[in-house]
Amino acid sequence: MPLNKVYDYIIAGGGCAGLSLVMRMLKEPQLSTKKILIIDKDSKQLNDRTWCYWEKGEGFFDEIVYRKWEKAWFHGEGYSSLKGLDPYAYKMIRGIDFYRHCHAQISAHPNVEICLGELKSIHNTSQGVEAIVGDDTYQAQYAFSSILLTQPVLGKDQYDLLQHFKGWVIETPEPVFHSNEATLMDFRVTQEEGTTFVYVMPLSPQRALVEYTLFTHTLLSDDQYDEGLRWYIQQFLQTDDYTIVEKEFGVIPMTDLSFPEREGNIIYMGTAGGQTKPSSGYTFRFIQKKADSIVGRLLLGLHPAAPIKAIEKRFKWFDKVLLHMLARKKMTGKKIFSLLFSRNRISTIFAFLDNETSLLQELRLLNTLPQIPFMRAGWFELFKK
Ligand SMILES: Cc1cc2nc3c(=O)[nH]c(=O)nc-3n(C[C@H](O)[C@H](O)[C@H](O)COP(=O)(O)OP(=O)(O)OC[C@H]3O[C@@H](n4cnc5c(N)ncnc54)[C@H](O)[C@@H]3O)c2cc1C
Repeated sequence: MPLNKVYDYIIAGGGCAGLSLVMRMLKEPQLSTKKILIIDKDSKQLNDRTWCYWEKGEGFFDEIVYRKWEKAWFHGEGYSSLKGLDPYAYKMIRGIDFYRHCHAQISAHPNVEICLGELKSIHNTSQGVEAIVGDDTYQAQYAFSSILLTQPVLGKDQYDLLQHFKGWVIETPEPVFHSNEATLMDFRVTQEEGTTFVYVMPLSPQRALVEYTLFTHTLLSDDQYDEGLRWYIQQFLQTDDYTIVEKEFGVIPMTDLSFPEREGNIIYMGTAGGQTKPSSGYTFRFIQKKADSIVGRLLLGLHPAAPIKAIEKRFKWFDKVLLHMLARKKMTGKKIFSLLFSRNRISTIFAFLDNETSLLQELRLLNTLPQIPFMRAGWFELFKK
C-alpha cells in the first residue's frame, strides 16, 4: 500500500544543507518537536567530501571540526606570504564526521524520520507542499530542498566554469609538514589549462591533504590530476616517499545561472539554491547562514524565505565580474588572486568573499585591481541583456 503521510516540514536532501538546517531546528524548543521528514537516496555512510571554510570565533559545528589553522600561505605571481588569519580561523570538517554527528542527534528525536529513497517530484498544493518518493506521497507545510530535479538552463552570456579538484591525503614516514600552516592557494604550477593552484592542509607533521584545483570549463583526465599532484609534492613538499591514504575528487559549479531560491512553499538551499559562491566555489558558510536565516524566520512566524536584499544583488554583480574575467580569459586567475592577496588584508578578502564587506571596503579592494579591464567587465555585466 502506498504511504500518504503528513509532516510539518520536509527536508529534501539530507546532505550539508538539509542536515545543517535540521540540526538548528533541533536546537530550538519551538521547532524541535515538529514532525520532520528528511528524504535522501543515500544513507551518507561514506567520507565523500571534506569541507573547509573560514569563520570568526566559535561556529555551530565547532565540536566536529577536525583541524583548524590560524596561519596560511599564499604563493602567487612574484609573491609568497604566510599570513595570520585573525580574526578568522580556517576550519576543516570531514564529511563522515558531519553525517555521523547529525544522524546521532536526529536518532534521539523520534519526531524526525529519514526516508531513504529517490525524490521523484515536489510541488506546491493548496495546503502546502507534496513530495513523491516511489509510490509514496508526503505532505507538509514547507519543504526545504537541496535537490534540483530540473537543471536551470544556461542563458546567453552566462558563465559555467567548473571548479574541479583531485585531492590526496598523503602520509610520510618522516615529519615533512608544518601542521599549523595551511596553504590556501599555491599558483606555482602550470597555468596551461587555465587557473590552476594547489591547496595543502597539513593534518599532522606526517599527514596532509594536497589538492590540485582548477577553475576551467572542462575536466582533466585522471592522469593529469595525478601528474600535477606528484609533481607538486616532489617540487614543493620535497618528498617522494609517501603513501596515498585517501583520495577525493570534486566538481563545484562556478556559475551565474539563476538557481531557484523559492517556489511557493518550497525553499531551495545549498548548491541547488544558488548558495555556491560563483567566484570561489565556497558553499559551506553560505549554507550555514541560510539555515540560520530560515530558523530565525520560522521562530518569528514568518515565511522561511527571506526577501532578496540589495547587498546580495551587489555581490552577485561582483561574482559575475570575476567570472567574466576568468571565463573570457581577460586576466589570469593567478594574476587576479596574486594582486588581491598581496595588496589587501586577508580578513578583508575573507569578508568580501563572504559577501560581508561595506561598499567602502569594496571600493578600496577593487582599487587594488587593474581598473580598465575590471571596469569594462563591470560595465558589460551591468548592462548585458
Ligand atoms: C568533494 C567536494 C568537496 C567540497 N569541499 C568544499 C569545501 O571545502 N568548502 C566549501 O565551502 N564547499 C565545498 N564543497 C561544495 C559544497 O559545500 C558541497 O557540495 C556541499 O555538500 C553542498 O551541500 P548541499 O546540501 O547543497 O548538497 P549535498 O551535500 O550534495 O546534499 C544533497 C543531497 O541530496 C541527495 N539527493 C540528490 N538528488 C536526490 C534525489 N533525487 N532524491 C533523493 N536524494 C537526492 C544527495 O544524496 C545528497 O545527500 C565541496 C563539494 C564537493 C563535491
